[in-house]
This record gives sequence, structure tokens and C-alpha cells, in this order.
Amino acid sequence: MPVNVGCVRVRELPNCTDLQVQNAIQHMFPAKAQRCNVKLNKRLTLLLCAFAGNCFVLLCVGVVSVQGSVRSRVTISITKPSEIKIDAELSRPVNSWSFRNAYAGVLGIAERVDDFQVEGAVTRKVVTGEFRSDLKASKISYTVRLSEPTAADVSHFSWLVGERGFLLFADLIPLEIHNLSAEFLLPEGWTVESSLPRNANGQFEVAEPEKAVFLVGHSLSKASSTVDGMALEVVLSGKLPFKERDALEPAINVMQKYLALTGFRLPGKSSIMIAPLPIPDKKTGWKAETRGSTIVLLINPNVRFERLRGQLTIIFTHEVLHLWVPNSLNLEGDYDWFFEGFTLYTALRTALELKAIDFKEFLNTLARVYDSYRSNPNTLSLIDESERRWAGAGTQVYVKGMLVAFLYDLMIRRESGGQTTLADRYRDLFSRHVADGANGNEVIIALLGSPPAVSHFTKSYVENGAQLELKRILSAYGLSLESAGKGSQLRVSVELNEDQRRLLRSLGYSN
Ligand SMILES: [Zn+2]
Repeated sequence: MPVNVGCVRVRELPNCTDLQVQNAIQHMFPAKAQRCNVKLNKRLTLLLCAFAGNCFVLLCVGVVSVQGSVRSRVTISITKPSEIKIDAELSRPVNSWSFRNAYAGVLGIAERVDDFQVEGAVTRKVVTGEFRSDLKASKISYTVRLSEPTAADVSHFSWLVGERGFLLFADLIPLEIHNLSAEFLLPEGWTVESSLPRNANGQFEVAEPEKAVFLVGHSLSKASSTVDGMALEVVLSGKLPFKERDALEPAINVMQKYLALTGFRLPGKSSIMIAPLPIPDKKTGWKAETRGSTIVLLINPNVRFERLRGQLTIIFTHEVLHLWVPNSLNLEGDYDWFFEGFTLYTALRTALELKAIDFKEFLNTLARVYDSYRSNPNTLSLIDESERRWAGAGTQVYVKGMLVAFLYDLMIRRESGGQTTLADRYRDLFSRHVADGANGNEVIIALLGSPPAVSHFTKSYVENGAQLELKRILSAYGLSLESAGKGSQLRVSVELNEDQRRLLRSLGYSN
């Protein structure tokens, strides 16, 4: 029975959790109907679904050894509705096995692991997700109950409902297995898709199980492309209000923008897997999570999307950036304020540049985010907020982080006479720190504060908990913020001097 535990922080999985994102941006784009429902302490209940018989297709067999390292072998079988069986042969014998029991503030996910057996040894369960045997052994088997997901956890954990499911190895495979080959035994008519490569035998090669995502189901359809050398695939499952090509084109446009932004070419294939939201929910428009090189997007089939292509573009501007930040950065520590807050702002800028929104909506969104910021006042620094992201609402990481990114962008545009923008910092980041394992906060604060004129800014708003006095600050940039009445209004000031006009035009203001 997974329960919500605010104190849990899972560091191993740099992740985009849509819960806080959707909380923060639920009013950003009015056409969206998404809303966060963070009710995590419901018992997972089994959903018996229409099941396509019990005739299984052997998709791949065999064993491989890559670059001299011996891989473990894993076979995943769908044996019953909402349940999978896993047989694993580890590359070396051990007598202790552990399953991840917490992720994104939810504890107890390993309770779904059942019937754990070790070949040739007596096995006992120590605590939830921890198993020991009296002898070292390499062959194990167990089942995982993938019962009905909830609105809060549906994009974070494995599920299997009806004719499809997402299998995330982070909550399915013991932590002792680091390098594996995977085969799937599926019901007749089902196939499996992943961003991961297959070997000559058709098995998936999985070097980092915690980032591996597989979509299994009946009648999967896909469209592929390359974006300046980067492989991209869109996979659809189930009844959706668009075809795979309709999603591929906006995804390509967004990937081109972020390649230009970072100057960094993603090394492997990226997959965007889209399926109907498998839970009845009248308020949630969509949910998403980006893990490794995979974006999982779950669309509520009951919500009508106006301007579909624009909506998909807006969703992708955030999620696709996570393929780069933080998923392609090898930085340590809690720098969520940057990879979520600054990502929100950069996604908004990108949506404006791609004409998915106009300049008025750009300002309106920032005004709504400011209202969200004001509704949860506190004096924690963004670094402290990032460390405590799962302990509370976690929205300040997003909303204050986004507003700090906006102010930073304004400041360096003015300081440089329009020669430098926040976007330039991304290219600097990727040119220096893709693979160095440094502390994320130290690297990014140093990067943002490198011009002496703005170093006090990061000290005040990132390292310390200075409040954002947006009304006073923005007036210097030719923007007026009125917070009387229902919601704040952010507008271009009636009278602008030449510097202000030039700066606002560089942001997209056209008068
Ligand atoms: Zn995110």
C-alpha cells in the first residue's frame, strides 16, 4: 500500500515529476485542463481487465556480452491481468536483493513485489522490498502486481491496465542488477517499444535499469525521424485525438530549438510514448514524466483539446528540455530550482518563439505564476526549497525558480545591452559540465553569477531567501505589475524609454 511520505527524497533518479509542474503551471496555459490531485495513500486495487488471451509470443531469446562485461538476463512475462512475472539470471551469485521502495515522495512501492524465490536456496523477506537467501545464487523469480494506478502515481510507476502498460525498470528490477539484457513474453498481438537499442537477438540492452521505460500493448503505432542527427520516435497506443505524425512534427520543432540552445547533440534515440490516461479523471488533462531518454505522456481521452498542435508544442517545450536538463548533465545534488524552475521559463520562451503562445500570453502566464508564488510565501532559499521539494507542496521550486529565471534574463539582457540572454548560459553549461560529476548548485550558481554585475542576484535569490518584489523590480524594465483584484496583471508600461523598448522587443514585444 504505497503511502505519501514527505521526507523521502530519491536522489538516484533525476526526474521530472508532473505533479509539481502541473501544480505550478496549471493556470499557465488556459486551454489546458490539467490539475494536480495529490492523494497518494489509496490502496492500489486490482483491476481485472479485458485480456487478450494467454497465448504468448516469444519476442527474443539469447544471451549477449557487451564490451567484456557480463550482463544479467531478465525475462518479463505478462501472466495475468495487471501482473507480471520476472525471471532473472544475475551475472554473479549474491544472497541479498533490494527493490526501490520510494520515489517522488511515495513510499511502499516495493510492496507490489510478491512470491520472491531464489533457485536452490531458502529465501526470506526481511522488510518490504528486501530479500535474503541462505546461499548465494544467481537465479531468481518473482511477480509484481501492477494494479490500478492512481492520479498521483500513474506517470511515475509501472502499470498495466487493459490492453497496454508502461513498465519502468526502476520499480521492477532489483538494485543489484546494473547491466542487463531484457526479453518480453507478451500476449498475442502485443508488442514492446523502448528508446533502448536491441541486440542481434532482439533483446533490449539496458545499461541503466533505473532509466529504462518500456511501453507494451496491443496495436502500438509509431513514427520516426532524425533531428539534425538525433533519432526521435513517437509511439502511440490506444484511442487518441491525433496520429503519431501530428505529435512528431511539434516534437521535431522543439528538439531543434533545444539543440540550438544547448549546442549538445543527444547521443541515443529519444522516445515520446503517448497513451490515454488509464484512470477516470475529469480534471486532469494530461500527465507526463521524462525519464532517461523517454518522455511518457498520458492524455485524458475525455478532455477536449483546442489547438491540438499548440498544446502538444507547449507540453513538449517543457518535457523535451528535460532530455537535456538534467538528464544529459552529470551533475550531483539538489539543483531542482534550476532544472524545474528555469526549465519552466525557458519552455515559456520557446513556446513564444515557436508561436504556440503570443507575447500577451507570455506576460499573463508570468503574472499567474507570480500569484502562485505569493500564495505560498516563505523565506527559504531556492537551494533549501530544492532539498525539501518532496517534504511539502514543492511548488516554490517551480514558481519562484521560474520568476528568478525571468528576472535573471531581464537583468543580463540589460547589463549586456541585449548581447547576452539566459539562453546563452545553457550553451556555456553544456560546453563545460556535461560529464564532470560536479555539484550542480555550485556549477550553475558560478555560471549564472559569472558577470560580477549579477553575482549579487544569485546570492540573494538562489542562495538566500530574498523575497521577490516583482512590482518594484519590473518597473525598471518597462513592465507594470498590478496585483489588485482577482489576479495580477503584467503589462508593458505606457511610456517606455529607448532602452526599455529595445529590451522588451528582444523578449518578443512587437510595438
Ligand atoms: Zn519538469
